[in-house]
Amino acid sequence: MSGDSGPIGLLALQGDYAAHARALAARGATTREVRTSGDLDGLAGLVLPGGESTTMLTLMEGSDLAARLVAEIAGGLPVLATCAGVILLAREVRLPPQRSLGVLDVVVERNAYGRQLDSAVVALTVRDPGALGAEALEGVFIRAPRVTSVGDGVAVLATRGDDPVLLRQGMILAATFHPELTPGSPVVDLFVRQVRAAG
Ligand code: GLN
Repeated sequence: MSGDSGPIGLLALQGDYAAHARALAARGATTREVRTSGDLDGLAGLVLPGGESTTMLTLMEGSDLAARLVAEIAGGLPVLATCAGVILLAREVRLPPQRSLGVLDVVVERNAYGRQLDSAVVALTVRDPGALGAEALEGVFIRAPRVTSVGDGVAVLATRGDDPVLLRQGMILAATFHPELTPGSPVVDLFVRQVRAAG
């Protein structure tokens, strides 16, 4: 990062946070792994990676990490949530139902794309090229959730067919796919721009 802004935190309980660290380092951003609430102090942004949302929730039990995450996100910390990270933030989780942090006004169904499509690289439809800063986008989907309902305050930046897959609500950027696995992804570029603009 430039100037006085802090590092970007990576929720590092489980999942592919190391891939996010590499993607952010490629853009000149410094990162810090977050495992306890104290690791959230002084961050300029935060990544909630893909992985297994159930495991992440279990690992957060018995500490104040979840409460501090909610407070920081509600307070306007720029966030990039990917795949399991979107499930963690959703207002409601189905198939199977699961508790969640409830700060992103969407309903998601887990593992929604069927067995043969469990993992796929898909050309997406960019709905808002101005907001994304790109005309074209691909998505790497790995046992991805499907967003089935989107609240009024949530902008859909890209879709897969009719399904919203890239969303923005305030300072939260949420992708049901894995932009950190696509070299040069405009989604990671957009997140870094948001962090720098807020810092
Ligand atoms: N299926 C996982 C879950 O339900 C998410 C998969 C991923 O993050 N790649 O948490």
